[in-house]
Amino acid sequence: MSTGDDALEVWIDQDLCTGDGICAQYAPEVFELDIDGLAYVKSAEDELLQDKGATTPVPLPLLTDVVDSAKECPGDCIHVRRVSDSVEVYGPDADEHGQ
Ligand code: SF4
Repeated sequence: MSTGDDALEVWIDQDLCTGDGICAQYAPEVFELDIDGLAYVKSAEDELLQDKGATTPVPLPLLTDVVDSAKECPGDCIHVRRVSDSVEVYGPDADEHGQ
């Protein structure tokens, strides 16, 4: 398989989202607030994924913005994980928390 071990995906725990919109400011290509006032991820086709906990691939050029969002997220509810083994690499459940 050649999907690459480094491929990452991101999801939001809407139960903890405060709706402040920081993530949508950092990475509007990936995050957007829905009319319910909570943040959701968007697909590669720019489609809002309204299922709670939906995942979307993190485009490499946007990785820094997405990681910064996860660090700044007041709800600690942005989770970035490896696609290959679902291990969280940035976010509240990552080993390197606060790196
Ligand atoms: S930064 Fe976190 S708490 Fe704020 S809107 Fe985005 S996901 Fe919700």
